[in-house]
Amino acid sequence: MAIAAPEQLNVSELPAWGSRSVDCFEKLEQIGEGTYGQVYMAKEIDTGEIVALKKIRMDNEREGFPITAIREIKILKKLHHENVIKLKEIVTSTGPEKDEQPAPDGNKYRGGIYMVFEYMDHDLTGLADRPGMRFSVPQIKCYMRQLLTGLHYCHVNQVLHRDIKGSNLLIDNEGNLKLADFGLARSFSSDHNANLTNRVITLWYRPPELLLGTTKYGPAVDMWSVGCIFAELLNGKPIFPGKDEAEQIHKIYDICGSATEEIWPGVSKLPWYNNFKPTRMVKRRLREHFRHFDRHALDLLDRMLILDPSHRIAAKDALDAEYFWTDPLPCDPKSLPKYEASHEFQTKKKRQQQRQLDENAKRQKLQHQQQQHSRVPPAQQMRPGPNAPAQPQAAGHHYGNKPRGPSGGPGRYPAAAAAAGNPSGSYNNPNRGQGAAAGYGSAPYPPQGRAPPYGSSGLPGAGPRGGPNYPHGGPPYGSSGGGRGSNVVPGNRNQQYWQ
Ligand code: ADP
Ligand code: MG
Repeated sequence: MAIAAPEQLNVSELPAWGSRSVDCFEKLEQIGEGTYGQVYMAKEIDTGEIVALKKIRMDNEREGFPITAIREIKILKKLHHENVIKLKEIVTSTGPEKDEQPAPDGNKYRGGIYMVFEYMDHDLTGLADRPGMRFSVPQIKCYMRQLLTGLHYCHVNQVLHRDIKGSNLLIDNEGNLKLADFGLARSFSSDHNANLTNRVITLWYRPPELLLGTTKYGPAVDMWSVGCIFAELLNGKPIFPGKDEAEQIHKIYDICGSATEEIWPGVSKLPWYNNFKPTRMVKRRLREHFRHFDRHALDLLDRMLILDPSHRIAAKDALDAEYFWTDPLPCDPKSLPKYEASHEFQTKKKRQQQRQLDENAKRQKLQHQQQQHSRVPPAQQMRPGPNAPAQPQAAGHHYGNKPRGPSGGPGRYPAAAAAAGNPSGSYNNPNRGQGAAAGYGSAPYPPQGRAPPYGSSGLPGAGPRGGPNYPHGGPPYGSSGGGRGSNVVPGNRNQQYWQ
């Protein structure tokens, strides 16, 4: 397990920062259940200010303060930008709390440690998941511009985020978007010569170079994720929802074309290139596939989703793209509508509850039908005449068997969106009418966090739990099992994250 070397924990700074107790805050509601700790909405008792408390999970740590948390704190302390979440302070609880496992022997950081953040009303996934949610074109441009501005700032400050996805993009009711969750972030040197882990970024947003095993990379990895988010906003659903690494890379090849030396010099030397060698060569058909996007959106997307990272557009250049400078222009964040708070954790929970309700209702109906049947005289039961219900469903008519929509509610993104040039509309979803409702609301996101993405890889020669490239081998990279798995994985973040 990776632990903090003594000098890595900048203790000289901690007393001032960790001196207040979590008792200065009243926890109001849980708003996030990260793989690595809970997040609460809380009120500072003295001032009444609403904040978010992110608890640093210690129950997996046998040997000390998690290095991931140290990195997150260290990096956030040096980043100050309106599009990057603000870490206000660190607070502690002295004793074990109700929700805490007893600390293993030798862990001197007994008790809880919390990061205190400014509170944000939504994350992008939660917001998009709201029933009937429609993002307008100026709104998408407004969010994209803020995302790129925040990311450009990180990259200029030599920080890679390494987990850009909807649930890590926070939005407040003033329309501000901020990058959050720097738990996988790290500093990089501009020569890209350091060896970094390729086991980062949630699978659906992971760029081809990481899937092919590179350990030398730079800001372009984040730009690929931005491209996936952009296309998702325009498309109404994730564009590369792979179940495991093999499916992921093939979904990418299918739209972006197969990776060849011709379009990506050096690709064949990447460690896992041969493992994922395409069986047939596919030509790039991104522009054709997303032909319903407006021209400028498509031009920009085309430059974000470039296989060769050295040709992928940088955040700075993306901000200069025509897309942001042609009508309809990005709107002023303040002009955006205010929505009821929506975080992925809550929308997911609501969906689960709705599914449970639907299942219960179904079960009750079935029981009711069975009871009705058992009241029918035996002779009738045995000889169903022409008027007798032939199928159990037919009996449903008696009980007002209404057509029931998919439990997940409407699609996450505009089912119908205005085509290019409609300032107030949103984009057309090609799957309107069929995929939209059934597809997204009910189809869950990929396993969040960093766990299942490292699923039983399609790597020939690598066992189902990771092969030679996964030194720890074990459960953190357990079988993906599709996107429906639990977020919580055995093991801890440090095992996959120390480079
Ligand atoms: P994890 O590493 O567990 O994914 P995150 O920092 O992403 O941790 O937090 C998990 C979730 O908690 C986020 O997706 C978001 O919904 C919510 N959250 C995190 N920080 C804040 C905040 N400052 N304000 C409001 N919600 C937050
Ligand atoms: Mg997160």
